[in-house]
Amino acid sequence: MEQTELLWQYQKADMAADSFETEMKRNPNRIALKKNREFLVEQQNAVKRIEDEVAEMVDRVDVIKLAIARMEEQLTTLNQRMQDTPPEDLSAAQDLNHDAQKLLTDLTGFEQEMKRIQNDAADRDKMEKEIRMKYAKVKAQYNQQKIDYEIEYKAQLKELEEKRRGALEKAQAIDETLLQRYQTIKLHCTPPVAKMYGDQCGGCNMSLPQVTLRKIKNGAKIIECETCGRMIIQM
Ligand SMILES: [Zn+2]
Repeated sequence: MEQTELLWQYQKADMAADSFETEMKRNPNRIALKKNREFLVEQQNAVKRIEDEVAEMVDRVDVIKLAIARMEEQLTTLNQRMQDTPPEDLSAAQDLNHDAQKLLTDLTGFEQEMKRIQNDAADRDKMEKEIRMKYAKVKAQYNQQKIDYEIEYKAQLKELEEKRRGALEKAQAIDETLLQRYQTIKLHCTPPVAKMYGDQCGGCNMSLPQVTLRKIKNGAKIIECETCGRMIIQM
């Protein structure tokens, strides 16, 4: 068999293996599996975020608790002082009253913040529970999908290997330089080999220049398309 014919046969087998591999990647079960895996990771991240937020809240609550305890102490001290040494005049009484009011206002503020944080924490707790439930459901589905897909994938992989082996066998009798040229062109243009249709490249459909056509007339079996870089074979 001529080199051009061998190359053409090899390309057929090589392209068939490539498109089978592409099909494998587009397998709906594989895509569904990937989608579920991404979803699970997202949920894990969401739970992590909530846990971080709750940890921050717990820290803040500790700070507030300390502040409240300190203010209560100050209030007690203030009351004690008022009982022990009642203010001597109106202005002293007003000062004490002002201090006590200020403490009470701050205390109320902190208590309100504490309540807000507790509500937020309860909301997050609820959110986390919902996420965990959803997660468990999808995870179970994902595990089964994974088992099913692995069986399917193994069978497909075997088929792909057969196709690759078939292509390799067809490559055996092709000149090494020709094969290398094929692989180089394939990196940017596929399929790398085209036939000639009329005076056009069968790959990019551009008309070939006279100088190239003359080479064919003079018996060249393989020429290069100046437009797409493909090998054009004459069979
Ligand atoms: Zn071309």
